[in-house]
Amino acid sequence: MNLAQEMQRGLKQRAQGRVRGRYAPSPTGDLHLGNIRAALYAWLHSRCLEGDCILRIEDLDQGRCKDGYEEQMLQDLQWLGFTFDEGVEEGGEFGPYRQSERITLYEQALELLKSQQRVYPCYCTRREMQARASRSASGEYVYDGRCKRLSAEELAELARTRRPAWRFCVDHGEVTIQDGFKGELVQDVSREVGDFVVRRRDGIFSYQLAVVVDDICMGVTDIVRGEDLYESSPRQVLLYRAFGTTAPRFWHIPLVLNQEGHKLSKRDRAHGVRGWVDEHGSHDQGRFFGAIVEAMGWQCGESLTLENIYQHACVSGMCDTWREAKGRLENK
Ligand SMILES: [Zn+2]
Repeated sequence: MNLAQEMQRGLKQRAQGRVRGRYAPSPTGDLHLGNIRAALYAWLHSRCLEGDCILRIEDLDQGRCKDGYEEQMLQDLQWLGFTFDEGVEEGGEFGPYRQSERITLYEQALELLKSQQRVYPCYCTRREMQARASRSASGEYVYDGRCKRLSAEELAELARTRRPAWRFCVDHGEVTIQDGFKGELVQDVSREVGDFVVRRRDGIFSYQLAVVVDDICMGVTDIVRGEDLYESSPRQVLLYRAFGTTAPRFWHIPLVLNQEGHKLSKRDRAHGVRGWVDEHGSHDQGRFFGAIVEAMGWQCGESLTLENIYQHACVSGMCDTWREAKGRLENK
């Protein structure tokens, strides 16, 4: 696969204007309510805007993505009636749809950034980095750029005993994002995060780099995903710029919290598809959807199919609201 060709093809597709959304889960455990809700939003969003929805498997962190989880996840999505226009099982012309099969693209992207001097090797351990780092307003560690200032001799010395991570040199100044659900986000990445990692010391490519490469190459026009990634969007915008393009439209949805007010995790079995099936049996997807939709504050029935939910989205005016929001985002 050739990065330049794949990017060109994706951008050509995007320029055609047809909505292309994606649902991009990591197979790290059972799907929980929050994952299903994200899938539901992504799927509904593409459908309401008469576009396509891609299923992409984000399995770069092989330490966390266990064998069998992907299969289970695909079965659960199928059990719930989700169908995708492109994906690992559906195929499609913008594949492969599994990140572990796209590593050659990320490698080429990193080489491209190296050739533009937009990345540099960082030899700091997490502890060293945190010991020196200041904290942003939101409590995040801000990398101090130490390794950017090392001399060639110092770098050579470090390279003898350590493997580097690769950090992206961020631009100074504010990045503004218009989010379809959450409104405007203004962030100065250099103050809030600093130069961020695009390839970890263990060789794994970061979420930031992989999703940007994939969304460009797959011609994605709309990113619908959980709010936990909202604050990372400006970093992705900087990467889009480095690759000579602009970001797709962003739509961040609120997270589902458990009763203690924490973000759900895939270990939270009580809130997962599997937990539901264990308790209620595998014949009643309708009530599972009913419970999810009720938790979202929609009132459209106790037992539902995806089709019912789509109809509700149309009748209740949700589709129109999204269409209007899309129009607004396009004009910004
Ligand atoms: Zn460093």
